[in-house]
Amino acid sequence: MNTYKNMLIAETIADVRAQVREWKAAGLTVGLVPTMGYLHEGHTSLVDAAAAQCDKVVASVFVNPTQFGPGEDLEAYPRDFDRDCGLLEEHGCSLVFHPSVEEMYAPDAATYVEILDDMPKQLCGKTRPIHFRGVCTVVSKLFNIVTPDKAFFGQKDAQQLVVIRRMVRDMSYGIEIVGCPIIREEDGLAKSSRNTYLNAEERQAALVLSRSIALAKKLIADGNRNAEVVLTAMRALIEEEPLAKIDYVSAVDGYNLQPVEGLEPGTLVAMAVYIGKTRLIDNFIVE
Ligand code: AMP
Repeated sequence: MNTYKNMLIAETIADVRAQVREWKAAGLTVGLVPTMGYLHEGHTSLVDAAAAQCDKVVASVFVNPTQFGPGEDLEAYPRDFDRDCGLLEEHGCSLVFHPSVEEMYAPDAATYVEILDDMPKQLCGKTRPIHFRGVCTVVSKLFNIVTPDKAFFGQKDAQQLVVIRRMVRDMSYGIEIVGCPIIREEDGLAKSSRNTYLNAEERQAALVLSRSIALAKKLIADGNRNAEVVLTAMRALIEEEPLAKIDYVSAVDGYNLQPVEGLEPGTLVAMAVYIGKTRLIDNFIVE
């Protein structure tokens, strides 16, 4: 296995298994942070949480082809593994798993993990029909490879977090799923590897997502609990931005992702908005 300072770099499933076996034999707990790399403070906040709660942290850096649909940005997705290693090591990661596509998927791999109710078809699933099947499949494989005690996911990808919790329950994974808060730029934009696609003008226009959340929170604080009223105000604000095109702005039950009429504590208000060609997501949970 290669190393980067104090951190191990594993490219094979066998190397990860051997190392984790050693740690477990020594009675140590293991936290997993799955990522697609090109790391920012959103990712490192998950590593920090994992390092605080577990003896050893394993992060995966893998741009998973099975969660990208035709015409999506699989090839263009930004990558900088050396920089990722620096950040992971600094934040206390013990091992980074950086497999090739061939290591993860046999050429004739045909087994998927898929939630068959309509939860994965809501929100992002409407325009990304195979996305959550790919996410569940790769996360399930990572769980089988790493066998962590806990796994850490960001609230930034709210639907993903709900889907993973459901998969863990349905498939009886004995793994605790820890959801971590959204990390934002100073001006409010949720951090994302895809923000790198934005030019200066688009970067400014992208603030409309977090501004629409601030508006919604204010309307709710003022006593508006009707979802359609609040969503209509959010959509109107976003539509004022010429570079923005709404994919969806929705209020759904925080557990089954079904649309709701009233904004109750626990309701998930989520959106996907194109800024130019870049699709950005953001959300908040009603308090
Ligand atoms: P990704 O590399 O985009 O697949 O993200 C890997 C993990 O980092 C997922 O659990 C994301 O939800 C989480 N993540 C990405 N951006 C943020 C952010 N701004 N704040 C918190 N978590 C994030």
